[in-house]
Amino acid sequence: MPDLKDLAAEIDRCSQCNFCLAACPVYREDRLESSGARGRINLVKAALLDQTLPVSGRVRELIDRCLLCTNCVQTCPASIRVDDIVAAARANLPNRNPAERMLLRRLLDRRAVSGVVGSLLKGLNLFNLPSLANPPLQQRLPAAVRPDGPVSARVAYFVGCGVNYLYPDTGEALVKVFSANGVEVVIPAGQQCCGLPALARGDKEMAREAVRANAALFAPLDVDAVVTDCTSCGYMLKVQVTALLPPDDPALPAAQAVAGRIVEATEFLAALGLQRQPRTQAVTVTYHVPCHRHWSAALADAPPKIAALVPGARFVPLREPRRCCGAGGAFFLSHRELSASIRGPKIEDIVATGAQVVLTQCPACRYFLQEGLGTESGVRVMHPLAFLAGGC
Ligand code: SF4
Ligand code: SF4
Repeated sequence: MPDLKDLAAEIDRCSQCNFCLAACPVYREDRLESSGARGRINLVKAALLDQTLPVSGRVRELIDRCLLCTNCVQTCPASIRVDDIVAAARANLPNRNPAERMLLRRLLDRRAVSGVVGSLLKGLNLFNLPSLANPPLQQRLPAAVRPDGPVSARVAYFVGCGVNYLYPDTGEALVKVFSANGVEVVIPAGQQCCGLPALARGDKEMAREAVRANAALFAPLDVDAVVTDCTSCGYMLKVQVTALLPPDDPALPAAQAVAGRIVEATEFLAALGLQRQPRTQAVTVTYHVPCHRHWSAALADAPPKIAALVPGARFVPLREPRRCCGAGGAFFLSHRELSASIRGPKIEDIVATGAQVVLTQCPACRYFLQEGLGTESGVRVMHPLAFLAGGC
């Protein structure tokens, strides 16, 4: 993510056409021009670059009320990097929540997280989250898992924070399904957060640290791909990393090499094909497409393909599979009401399909959709690979 002043030309590329307006989940809720991408970047320019508008509490609030979902970027004919502009604007606004920064630092280090994170989560009102995996997934996985039979591919597995701390079942399913289908999985020790949460808060230096550490770990590996089961980690590792590091950064070649090999895990397996017949699951399945999907053209096609391979499974598409669920990474934690109202139509859409299983590749979407559906609904939200593994 460049500095805001370096994004001035990017802001000026906006033709003010407003094609992006209807794609913005915040605008769809509050119908305010300032919530859409055009309004938002005009506001950033006036308040923080031209300084023709005072940086009032309302200006801060509007800059904060963006999920960084990239739906505007994906709709914009000029692909204006609205998420980068908003994140850079946040970096220009001091007094970020110090407890959040401390939590991000712990996630980045992945050291002593279980010990201190409880109090930090309480301070941030995160107590509704699932209990933390103890020990975290990465500490439980071996350095490599080889299939019993012939090896058709070898991948390195990037373990995202959502799966590492909250949903280890997804990572366990990945290892199980990949090795059952002839794929060796290498899990390098010492992985850090992908850096996207730090970037979203405008903390570029912290994000760079994470990128450099992960690039050093993954670049030397002799693998066919680096897979991730989180679409937001994938967006960070494939797209954001190279723009984040300065051109003269010694870690840039390694980061670029890793970025070139990042593949979403469901997509990797769907392209490779299954060697082993999945077990029968007589359920109705649907699929919520995470917002951070635009880094791979095939990412959103893979889960329906995988569901079609499971005997007994009946796939019913959502009416609006790409509509935002309102989670926005950690956005829902600080904007509960807004996120819940964005989620409302998505929940109605899911319920109308009659599905008992909702597939999605984003841990934040999974948590927030499951919370909205409730456990009493009997609907389970899970990663496509966990479904393939038999709902483990
Ligand atoms: S951000 Fe893109 S779609 Fe939106 S007004 Fe500007 S040019 Fe048009
Ligand atoms: S990133 Fe998402 S929430 Fe932010 S302006 Fe774009 S569409 Fe709206």
